[in-house]
Amino acid sequence: YKAEISRGSQLPAQTLDGFSIQIMGNIELPEEVVSVRDYGGNGIGLYRTEFQYMSRAGFPTEDELFDKYKDVVEVMSPNPVTIRTLDINGDKALPYASVSEEMNPALGMRAIRYCLKNPDIFKTQLRAILRAAIYGNVRIMFPMISNCEEVIEAKKLLKEAAASLHEQDIAFKEDIDVGIMVEVPSAVIIADLLADEVDFFSIGTNDLIQYSLAIDRGNRHVSYLYNPVHPAIIRMLKHISDIAHNKGIKLFMCGEMAGNPHYIPILLGLNMDELSMNPQSIPAVKNAIRSLSMKDAGVFFEKLITIKTEQEMKALLEESYGNIT
Ligand code: PEP
Ligand code: MG
Repeated sequence: YKAEISRGSQLPAQTLDGFSIQIMGNIELPEEVVSVRDYGGNGIGLYRTEFQYMSRAGFPTEDELFDKYKDVVEVMSPNPVTIRTLDINGDKALPYASVSEEMNPALGMRAIRYCLKNPDIFKTQLRAILRAAIYGNVRIMFPMISNCEEVIEAKKLLKEAAASLHEQDIAFKEDIDVGIMVEVPSAVIIADLLADEVDFFSIGTNDLIQYSLAIDRGNRHVSYLYNPVHPAIIRMLKHISDIAHNKGIKLFMCGEMAGNPHYIPILLGLNMDELSMNPQSIPAVKNAIRSLSMKDAGVFFEKLITIKTEQEMKALLEESYGNIT
């Protein structure tokens, strides 16, 4: 495992013309935090907390959650740990909390929808996160946001969780950054309204592509259509980026697109603050960034956005940056 870690992995992700971008790791289990550090990650951009709920018979307690979050936060400190609240159901069903009779679970009672319907389960997790936040640099992120009401309601429950800790004299940190996953097309369209509610956006391309192009992300029959370099997706990314920059909030990406060196010129063209990926992808993405110029990527992106078809987009990417693998 150590041998796999390339020698350049601890170098900064800086372009030839001096622009830096933070490279973060995605984790599912607390133990993985060590590999993010070893591969040269600057923090955790996505902690998928649902996995801690999965291989067991019932919901974990607040103390169990707190212990695990604290471990991750301490190892990464002072670098950020972005804890995503429960994203269960859809493709990650819990045996003890499944919602029966859903024809389309991906469009069903999942993630933030489930949490807002089950505020006690949600608040248990929020309390654990607020308590762990004392030990380092924690951000909180809500998944599957599709309207402003969900963000407002989730923030209200976060406030209530803080108030209950305060009342019980339990130590916690209140002023932590709050953000959302942008992974549902409606969130892209109302990004300007959502930006007023949060400190950051993190683009989840896995679901954003699934929902925008109507392609089940797990269905191999249509996987040939599943492609981030689709004019609709490129335009959406541009729209989110313009709004985040105009509104002065941070812009991150934590979907699979961010971990593929091939797409790095596009992401540089979008001027993203952080990219988060599987730890093993970090060295190759850093190398790609270190071989590119931000200025050239901007010119390339201007051209890319005018193109009509997927095929021509891919051809331009290949022609301009075919050497990046
Ligand atoms: C995404 O949808 O892009 C994402 C990062 O979340 P997940 O893969 O956990 O749905
Ligand atoms: Mg998702």
